[in-house]
Amino acid sequence: MKKEPFVTLEQLKEIDKTYPTPYHLYDEKGIRENAKRVKEAFAWNKGFREYFAVKATPNPFLINILREYGCGCDCSSMTELQMADALGFGGDEIMFSSNATPAEEYQFARQINATINLDDFTHIEFLEKCAGIPEKISCRYNPGGVFKMSNGIMDNPGDSKYGFTHEQIIEGFKILKEKGVKTFGLHAFLASNTVTNEYYPLLAKVLFELAVELKEKTGVAVKFINLSGGVGIDYRPEQEKNDIMVIGEGVRKVYEEVLMPAGMGDVALYTEMGRFMMGPYGCLVTKAIHQKHIYKEYIGCDACAANLMRPAIYGAYHHITVMGKDNSVCDHKYDVTGSLCENSDKFAIDRMLPKVDVGDFLVIHDTGAHGYSMGYNYNGKLRSAELLLKEDGTVQMIRRAETDRDYFATFDFCDILKDIKWRE
Ligand SMILES: *Cc1c(COP(=O)(O)O)cnc(C)c1O
Repeated sequence: MKKEPFVTLEQLKEIDKTYPTPYHLYDEKGIRENAKRVKEAFAWNKGFREYFAVKATPNPFLINILREYGCGCDCSSMTELQMADALGFGGDEIMFSSNATPAEEYQFARQINATINLDDFTHIEFLEKCAGIPEKISCRYNPGGVFKMSNGIMDNPGDSKYGFTHEQIIEGFKILKEKGVKTFGLHAFLASNTVTNEYYPLLAKVLFELAVELKEKTGVAVKFINLSGGVGIDYRPEQEKNDIMVIGEGVRKVYEEVLMPAGMGDVALYTEMGRFMMGPYGCLVTKAIHQKHIYKEYIGCDACAANLMRPAIYGAYHHITVMGKDNSVCDHKYDVTGSLCENSDKFAIDRMLPKVDVGDFLVIHDTGAHGYSMGYNYNGKLRSAELLLKEDGTVQMIRRAETDRDYFATFDFCDILKDIKWRE
């Protein structure tokens, strides 16, 4: 399907008067409509809750929008826990799914009563020593081997660092039960960015069957099952979008086939989607500031991989629209680059686009998740602003751009840079 930006050239020109490029822009209407659909897709499950994966887009304004649709927070670190807590989320609304977890993060998670999702068998003892075992806990399962889907997508849990093995999770449940845990949950994340409606139902089957087995072998009746993230989006125009209603129905079928007959019809389902909640509803807006003609044709942008890392590190495809040239033929082949001293700093390689002129706005699509949040300061680049395109068409700044003062702030303990010439 043709990928259309959610913003017009006229709107971008208007925004340009106040906010210079580059910036990440988010679409309030899209975020709301999608969050509503997610809620409806799982409405058949009484205890359903989506815990938004904060790491995908750690912006409190956006998290507060999702909250209106019942979403909680899935946190992976101290600062994410602090953000969720500061926004007033209660313990039941905060999931803490981390790995190689530092003691102080477990301690803080316990302090704010977040639900801890243990990544490893040895963390039972670690958690007990550093923070004590809570009454409610979840364990992350890794079935090992290869996880295959019918469209050829597969992932390799056996090669990933996460979770308990099958034996460990049975043993772990027994130990946790002895240590006084009353409420148990199960979690697994087996494949990433799955653009297929069958991922969640297949994963649900693995977890539901495990829950039944755990009940038989340990006497523990699991209270919640967390399908985690991994639901993908159509980064490429030729991909078919996931349909969350179909996904919800698929999970319901498996629930009725596996959990209901085992007398486990009261299990609450949780999800921890990041990409699916926010990915399509953000874009990176940048301007073409240079054209370079050597062995290939290059467009140099004012954004770089420090604003959006996915193409540079995964070779990920992000669709690009040259604004105002919608009806022009894509008869020019470009590498679209940022300014880092890194040859991987390319938003697109050999991409067919309409003729790009210096000053054109380029919209880089689907940067709403794992976009801004993966930003970094290499080459001394400063992180951009984040802006929200509201439903009424106005624009709200929801994070300011970094300044040189932010960049040098970590030398504020000494006066070695006291003669700096500030740029702002
Ligand atoms: C990254 C992550 C998510 C979110 O993944 P998406 O692919 O963005 O949906 C959810 N849960 C855990 C534990 C994660 O690490």
